[in-house]
Amino acid sequence: MFDVIVCGAGPAGSVAATLLARGGARVLVVDRARFPRDKLCGDTINPGTMVALRRLGLTSRFESRAIEVHGMLVTGEGGVEVLGEYGEVRGLALPRRDLDYALIEEAAAAGARVEEGVLVRAPLLENERGQKVRGIVIAGRDGRDVRIPSPLVIAADGRRSRLALALKLTRHPLRPRRWAVGAYFEGITGLTAYGEMHVRHGRYIGVAPLGTGAANVCLVTANQRGLDDPPRALREAISRDWQLADRVSSARMVSPPIVLGPLAVDASAAGVPGLLLAGDAAGFIDPMTGDGLRFAVVGAELAANVALAALARHVRTPHRTLARLRRGEFAGKWRFNRVLRQVVASRAGLELAGFAASSAPVLLRRTIAFAGDLSKR
Ligand SMILES: Cc1cc2nc3c(=O)[nH]c(=O)nc-3n(C[C@H](O)[C@H](O)[C@H](O)COP(=O)(O)OP(=O)(O)OC[C@H]3O[C@@H](n4cnc5c(N)ncnc54)[C@H](O)[C@@H]3O)c2cc1C
Repeated sequence: MFDVIVCGAGPAGSVAATLLARGGARVLVVDRARFPRDKLCGDTINPGTMVALRRLGLTSRFESRAIEVHGMLVTGEGGVEVLGEYGEVRGLALPRRDLDYALIEEAAAAGARVEEGVLVRAPLLENERGQKVRGIVIAGRDGRDVRIPSPLVIAADGRRSRLALALKLTRHPLRPRRWAVGAYFEGITGLTAYGEMHVRHGRYIGVAPLGTGAANVCLVTANQRGLDDPPRALREAISRDWQLADRVSSARMVSPPIVLGPLAVDASAAGVPGLLLAGDAAGFIDPMTGDGLRFAVVGAELAANVALAALARHVRTPHRTLARLRRGEFAGKWRFNRVLRQVVASRAGLELAGFAASSAPVLLRRTIAFAGDLSKR
């Protein structure tokens, strides 16, 4: 019998499992994937995320392999360009394949039992009508359901969390609807130690330098039909862009593009009795701010601390305690991210932002610093 089952071994699941195991809990972490595995992401770890990972002692397995990110170059329509510096604490860029593998190794080293290739099908409920979770249901080797009981479950199974969706704790809102397509490239010229965000009407393109001429390129768009042919959509978006066209003329796409969407996930709670949410499973606003990993790491830390307190019988309603702690930690950033998402979605908002950026670039520099969680210690 395990004290806690963690579903999903992305950053949120691995961090939660590590902290629980360090705290003396018997932890099982399961993931449908086998690691190392690819994950569509901009591959940047912002300064605030690095601060959190360092504080938790979780950087030694990947830090030396990553590229330093000194800040962000943000460009808009009509030639607007602003460079925002991160300052003393830098961000990093590293493929998620490597970051996630390093973090899952930390969980195993801390004593968590890690089971890969395990598909979670549903929460195990106390009774058919109830919302009290008593474990999980996984797909067994013969295809039949297998029940694994546990007093506590942490759902860290990403934006399309089966557990959160089954319990109606999260949903994809009708608006805004955005999709992402991303791939690795070689041969993009003009790459620097800065991440790049090129914001245009109806779409934006993120570029992260990964060293030796390689880069991660992600396109986020409201036009789902435009993604019917993902390699073409990505190639066209960059080769027609005023800032990128010349720089990508001899670049090669070196990985099959991955498509994700719809991106936004609204959450109505942080869990139910017996179940806590962490990472994207607890909600996702938009990738433009590049801070999903900080929500995942710090949200996992909060969930693990609440779970340990619940096992020690120090809290009676862990899901409510977690909701309160998450609001205290994240409410300001949630508001900021929603406002930014709204600005970028509207033509008028984008034009106003472009005007503000060219007449008072300091405003955009502050926005870049806030998005990078520079104030977090
Ligand atoms: C286009 C894009 C670009 C982004 N760029 C950045 C960026 O540059 N920087 C940043 O900080 N954030 C970025 N983000 C956000 C970031 O990727 C996420 O916030 C982060 O991955 C959340 O981590 P997680 O552990 O919650 O979920 P995930 O990383 O999605 O991990 C969930 C895990 O659960 C497993 N799983 C799912 N379902 C099941 C199941 N039924 N059974 C078993 N296992 C299951 C999956 O295999 C996966 O390993 C970006 C997001 C997108 C979409």
